[in-house]
Amino acid sequence: MEQKKQIVILGAGFGGLRAAMLLGKYIRRSGMENSCQVVVVDRNAYHTYTPTLYEVATTSKETADYVNLKSIVTFPIEKIVKKLGGRFIQAEIESLDLKDGDVHLKNSGVIKFDYLVLALGAETNYFDIPGLKENSAPLKWFTDALKIRDRVLELAQSGKEEIRIVIGGGGSTGVEFAGELQGWLAEMEVEIEEQKHRQCKFKITIIEAGPSILLGFPAAIINRVQKRLKSLGAEIIANHPIEKVAQEKILLNGKRELPYDLLVWAGGVKAASLMGTMPLKLEKRGRVEVAGEMECLPQSPDLKLYGKIYAIGDAVCFYDQGGRPIPGVARAAMSQAKIVAHNIICDIQGRKDHWQYRPMEYPYIIPIGGKWAIAKLGPIVIWGFGGWALKILVEINYLRMILPFWKAIKAWLRGLWIFIQNDRLG
Ligand SMILES: Cc1cc2nc3c(=O)[nH]c(=O)nc-3n(C[C@H](O)[C@H](O)[C@H](O)COP(=O)(O)OP(=O)(O)OC[C@H]3O[C@@H](n4cnc5c(N)ncnc54)[C@H](O)[C@@H]3O)c2cc1C
Repeated sequence: MEQKKQIVILGAGFGGLRAAMLLGKYIRRSGMENSCQVVVVDRNAYHTYTPTLYEVATTSKETADYVNLKSIVTFPIEKIVKKLGGRFIQAEIESLDLKDGDVHLKNSGVIKFDYLVLALGAETNYFDIPGLKENSAPLKWFTDALKIRDRVLELAQSGKEEIRIVIGGGGSTGVEFAGELQGWLAEMEVEIEEQKHRQCKFKITIIEAGPSILLGFPAAIINRVQKRLKSLGAEIIANHPIEKVAQEKILLNGKRELPYDLLVWAGGVKAASLMGTMPLKLEKRGRVEVAGEMECLPQSPDLKLYGKIYAIGDAVCFYDQGGRPIPGVARAAMSQAKIVAHNIICDIQGRKDHWQYRPMEYPYIIPIGGKWAIAKLGPIVIWGFGGWALKILVEINYLRMILPFWKAIKAWLRGLWIFIQNDRLG
């Protein structure tokens, strides 16, 4: 009997999970269950919904415990993949042999692929700034968010009168976190005064290397977000790259020093380190360069890669028509997943009607504390409560995509209930 074709997807983030779900659907629809199988590999047992991580990092222990928070931002991959007839392997991917078609897993042996989808995402980039990695807390995964929340609580209980929280990087992650944190800290200041009869003042500062926060966003969005952050009490220091970080102070360019109690680093990401070990065409930030069909190119033209290798999401560098790399966002990863799922089915069926990925200006929503967010949908900009309501709808829409209907509604309502209690600023 002929072996089933193995479609191996590495990474079950926004891109990888979407690709697996679509492939499962297409395989079933075309009656190809006996000729091919989808295998998904991820180091985590769960898929993370990153857009609400800033909420996890600012939720008090009275509002929600670890279990509750985990159930609203992480979702078991195995259940999702099994339902589609696929197989999930929880393992660290150690190395790949792209000439022989082997994926080497830590403590879980080797798996062979006929079609490979690299969806390994990105990891925090510390840009080799001395002391930054050792002295800062990243905000990338669920456990990072919990560590930040625990550290904030520890500082609040330390008896210090002034606590300085510095956020490195004024991109969307940095500003979203700053806005929400401001609300939580304001509430904590009042609680400490009423219950412990002492003063505790928190100060939040966003440090940005570039000329303003949200670099690359339209000026109207930047201005509104800046105004909102200032009205909440957060300080913004732009044009100040971090040069060095010591245990309690940050050295900014121009020799300015900034003391801190907690430094949260949201200043950038780079492609997952594994990407740099593969004989593929990479750009300077370690991302794979792909052509329109999302297929990877070998490092040198004479190198023969095994099977067909595709890559999607944050690990990929795709240039728009203006020659600029498109930003790493969930929507891009999911759109690319759709292209790749279709193209793999074409490959298997020997069809030639492959799709090309065409980048677009994806809509986005940036929540800044309480029930306030700014959203841009094409030419339309909505801010305030309307933006926040839109964000809530986007969340339910995504959950409905990955979970059965009632489970999605339950997870969404639970999240809404917890995070609304966070929205102290209104
Ligand atoms: C705090 C935060 C907030 C964000 N908010 C938004 C938002 O509001 N809107 C938006 O569009 N985007 C947002 N993003 C960006 C968005 O999360 C990414 O663009 C998206 O996750 C990229 O999807 P991906 O599939 O490429 O990678 P990921 O979703 O990062 O998935 C990669 C997967 O690969 C796995 N993996 C990596 N290396 C290995 C290995 N060696 N072995 C095994 N498994 C491995 C990881 O465990 C992970 O599950 C946010 C990101 C962060 C960090």
